[in-house]
Amino acid sequence: MMWWKKWLGSSMAFILLATLVIPVIDGSTASAADWKTEANDRIEQIRKRNAEIRVVDASGNPISGATVSVKQTKHRFGFGSAINTNVLTNATYANFFKNHFEWAVHENESKWYSTETSQGNVNYSNADKIMEWTEANGIISRGHTVLWEVEANNPSWVKSLTGTALRSAMDSRITSVVNHFKGKYVHWDVNNEMLHGSFFKDRLGAAIWPYMYQRVRALDPNVKLFVNDYNVIEYDEDVAYKAQIKSLLDQGAPIDGIGAQGHFGATIDPVAVKRRLDNLATFGLPIWITEYDSTVSNENTRADNLEAMYRLAFSHSSVDGVLMWGFWAGSHWRGADAAIVNQDWTLNAAGKRYEALLKEWTTVQSGTTTSDGKYPFRGFHGTYEITVTAPGAAAVTKTFELEPGSTTQVFTVQTTGNGGGNPNPTVPAAPTGVTATVGDAQASLNWNAVSGATSYTVKRATTSGGPYTTVATGIAATSYVNTGLTNGTPYYYVVSAVNSVGESTNSSQVSVTPTVSQPPSTSNLAVQYKLNNTSIIGNTINATFNIKNNGTAAVNLSNLKLRYYLTKEGSASLNFWCDWAQVGTSSVNGSFGSISPAKTGADTYLEIGFSSAAGSIAAGGQSGDIQIRIAKADWTNFDQANDYSFDSTKTSYANWNKVTLFQNGNLAWGIEP
Ligand code: CA
Repeated sequence: MMWWKKWLGSSMAFILLATLVIPVIDGSTASAADWKTEANDRIEQIRKRNAEIRVVDASGNPISGATVSVKQTKHRFGFGSAINTNVLTNATYANFFKNHFEWAVHENESKWYSTETSQGNVNYSNADKIMEWTEANGIISRGHTVLWEVEANNPSWVKSLTGTALRSAMDSRITSVVNHFKGKYVHWDVNNEMLHGSFFKDRLGAAIWPYMYQRVRALDPNVKLFVNDYNVIEYDEDVAYKAQIKSLLDQGAPIDGIGAQGHFGATIDPVAVKRRLDNLATFGLPIWITEYDSTVSNENTRADNLEAMYRLAFSHSSVDGVLMWGFWAGSHWRGADAAIVNQDWTLNAAGKRYEALLKEWTTVQSGTTTSDGKYPFRGFHGTYEITVTAPGAAAVTKTFELEPGSTTQVFTVQTTGNGGGNPNPTVPAAPTGVTATVGDAQASLNWNAVSGATSYTVKRATTSGGPYTTVATGIAATSYVNTGLTNGTPYYYVVSAVNSVGESTNSSQVSVTPTVSQPPSTSNLAVQYKLNNTSIIGNTINATFNIKNNGTAAVNLSNLKLRYYLTKEGSASLNFWCDWAQVGTSSVNGSFGSISPAKTGADTYLEIGFSSAAGSIAAGGQSGDIQIRIAKADWTNFDQANDYSFDSTKTSYANWNKVTLFQNGNLAWGIEP
């Protein structure tokens, strides 16, 4: 009785018992050392960013010699575990959870068989109590699961239903549970294990699967909707999973993420797991390892397995988090041989390895500011507590979010003092490195950040040397797009830096002559575009580009800039990811620019550039796939219907002139908005 309850209490189907003993056979020859070195190289690229703490006094002037302590308190990557009602009664369990995890998933408490034991008798009290605890402790929760396609894991009263009675019960379940947890769960597994069951599909028809996803989306547009299944990274069922996900997407199921459960036996082959993750990553959707465990009596092997899975997941640009399916030997669905902490709460080798990995991937350091008030560091993405102690001023502690990006993220901490060794505040220096790029009736300006500046002013003249007229003030960024210009007319720009004391002198002058944007006849470049996901409303913009070189000479990618235009809805900052590129994701960078005043369909553009490591496109060749993703820092939805560069009909590569390409700053393809 007990073991049967345990099986029902898991997320997996009973049949997995049989498959766990099959040894993993893989043809790869890569050595263990190879995979780890390669994974660490990727981690350095995709999980970290250069940051700079700038310490200023009450007047905005830089303070040198200030002590800066940088302590990461949260990770952007999701580290989590299944949680159960032990958290309500066992303080040791609760403390262990809080100290080791930032994400939770209710092990059984919101499954249908737990919340509606007989028809109409709906009770969410256990799940609600756990949710109260996680919310009070700043832990984020994913939902598991609205429905479960495996017959055995449905409430017993549901199994006997068919036709309209089943449809009605299913609809009531969806409406009830999704509304109940609206605004609480950030993910929902919508219909668990469709690779391993066909309960609803057999009784209600194949169209019921996309319907489930559409219905949950309609009830809660903000929660991210997942497929979730097992054996898809443990074994080669990634092939079948991929075909099933494609079929669901083709039928209009709004799928936001791919759950790979990750229930392993005694062996984990990191090379094979990576191959399967790469295969699932081709949709451009985020992947979560949702239910990791490995069961093996030797705790050192268990530790090595845990490290293999976590290091590989953390190194994979499509994986956004890993949740274990339990941690404590006293409450693990697969028993003590899968736990990371023993019955008596001593850490075993797997638990020690987990702590060591978290420590390795958490940035904690300190030092003093340079003569211009800067403390640079490179840290893992996430939330930081920054404590600054400046000479003659009280210590100041601030929270700072280090977000993904290819540029240095600057965070300024203002102290209450007068700067200690810098008693005479001064105006900032003039900006340097001002450049201008020409466009159709517009000019794009960029310049270097100036120490101590709080904003910038852009001025323009129609004769070289001025007099200059101010065209924009209070610019916080180090770039500006000036629109509404007359093509063929030369314009002359200078930029000044501003702080509380005053305004700098003008920068050196740059000049541009806007021109009509038609692809120059000499350009032999073309941009192709396609979508893997044609959802118009969603929190992510996905696109894949291919640059073709139809000329007779090779073209250096580092001379090219590709622009994608959109209206971003709202004021949140944007994040860019390159999920896959044939030239290497680390060779691809993305930044965002504002278009002011906005054009029809475009208040923002993504500019994609390439490092020299991207190499060149041979004559007659192409760049290959450049698969990108954009999301807002607050994960609110985009409406792509009004975006200049979006075309939902392009699901396979076609030339697309509403994406532009610049070669050495000159328009080489496309039409600007
Ligand atoms: Ca839009």
